[in-house]
Amino acid sequence: MDTIRTRFAPSPTGYLHIGGLRTALYCYLYAKKNNGKFILRIEDTDQARYVEGTTEIIYANLKDAGLLYDEGPDVGGQYGPYIQSQRKADYLKYARILIEQGDAYYCFCDKDRLEQLHQQGATKYDKHCLSLSKTEIESKLAQGVPYVIRQNIPSSGTSTYTDCVFGEIAVDNSELEDNVLIKSDGLPTYNFANVIDDHLMGINVVMRGTEYLSSTPKYNLLYDALGWQRPIYIHMPPIMRDEKHKLSKRDGAASYDDFIANGFLSQAIVNYIALLGWSPKSNQEKMSLQEMIELFNIEGISRSPSIFDLTKMKWLNSLYVKELPFEQFVQMATPWIDKSMVAGKYDYDKLCKLIQGRIEILSDIPDKINFLAQFDSYNLQLYVNQKQKSDIDIARKVLPLVKRTMMGINEWYNDTIYQQLCQIAQDSGLKNSQILWPTRVALSGQQSTPGGATELAELLGKDESINRINKSIGMLDMTP
Ligand code: GLU
Repeated sequence: MDTIRTRFAPSPTGYLHIGGLRTALYCYLYAKKNNGKFILRIEDTDQARYVEGTTEIIYANLKDAGLLYDEGPDVGGQYGPYIQSQRKADYLKYARILIEQGDAYYCFCDKDRLEQLHQQGATKYDKHCLSLSKTEIESKLAQGVPYVIRQNIPSSGTSTYTDCVFGEIAVDNSELEDNVLIKSDGLPTYNFANVIDDHLMGINVVMRGTEYLSSTPKYNLLYDALGWQRPIYIHMPPIMRDEKHKLSKRDGAASYDDFIANGFLSQAIVNYIALLGWSPKSNQEKMSLQEMIELFNIEGISRSPSIFDLTKMKWLNSLYVKELPFEQFVQMATPWIDKSMVAGKYDYDKLCKLIQGRIEILSDIPDKINFLAQFDSYNLQLYVNQKQKSDIDIARKVLPLVKRTMMGINEWYNDTIYQQLCQIAQDSGLKNSQILWPTRVALSGQQSTPGGATELAELLGKDESINRINKSIGMLDMTP
């Protein structure tokens, strides 16, 4: 068996979006699983849609995501160049061979004629130029009449192939249009370039989205006409925003860079998108890239569309955040703390200890910690907590005691503060939670906080803690 060679062939028309990244991931996994090669090819023949700078983003994103390609524009390889606009001569060469064989033809029809055809109800090109004589063609070429080269699709018969996921696909040739292979600017269309390049680059497994399922018979006709072996096809189901809509580039945060900018971790993104259309036999959800390589199988690719679930992606991300080595977490969290109202205040290591296990994505950080810098009035109902056996009266009774105790503490550490507050509980016949809950609310004015009462107190420092308890006592006093 030949070495498996898969390719990711993005068009540099914008950021690398989640659908593209999933294609790249599955191509990578399938190649690596089979000790094969994963190739990157840039499909930039549609100059009108080209967006400057996006090629570099694709290189950077793939590397950041760990999807290292064995061959590609910036890493080289024996089948280069890996950028289609640099391969123009090849396309023309094969287009001419097809013309000579009668599998393609020059078409000189101008916009007006095509428009007219369309208005007359034609659903596809009518093969008008196929009947031009050799002399007519030569004279038009000599006069410089603009032309395209079209594929000559048989008018009858059926084209079939077997897709590894979707099974047998059969299309009546009469439904297929004589597609343009070479445009009037001399550049190939996707429909042509993908076949020529896949063959010349030795690609034997083509993996791409289902939008290509029905045009693949046309590509197969080209392989057959040129006497080339068809690749194996693996089409992947679409990724949907909801039941009805495809997830499009226009949906905010659908690109890899957007997710990173929103505080997702690269491994979590890759892990989550792996599950968008594939699941391992064991239904395991959290997987390293290495585990995915081991578990990846075509049988696990689903035929039905998968719905993008941000909640699940965040949950998966939280697992990766928890696992980060502490120093790395501090490093990654720092820019987010700097963006919060707490910037420059408090000990970042202490802050990070409190938040690492309590956020899903890094961008949760500012909201989680802003209360440390800002202490306004809050709803006194927060003191009412059945589980902690706390209510407003308990808070009224307990907080002055907490304040007095705090004033007497010299060693301002979590452990000492905790011991001393529990001592109040013992002395007054209350439960620890009846001291700790009101203290937590009094210090934060929040329902949920990263860290318990005494951890917060340590972080805030003695003066600020007493200051906040005081304010809270004042608020309770003002309420009947
Ligand atoms: N350039 C095509 C795209 O971005 C690639 C399709 C394919 O993988 O063949 O959709």
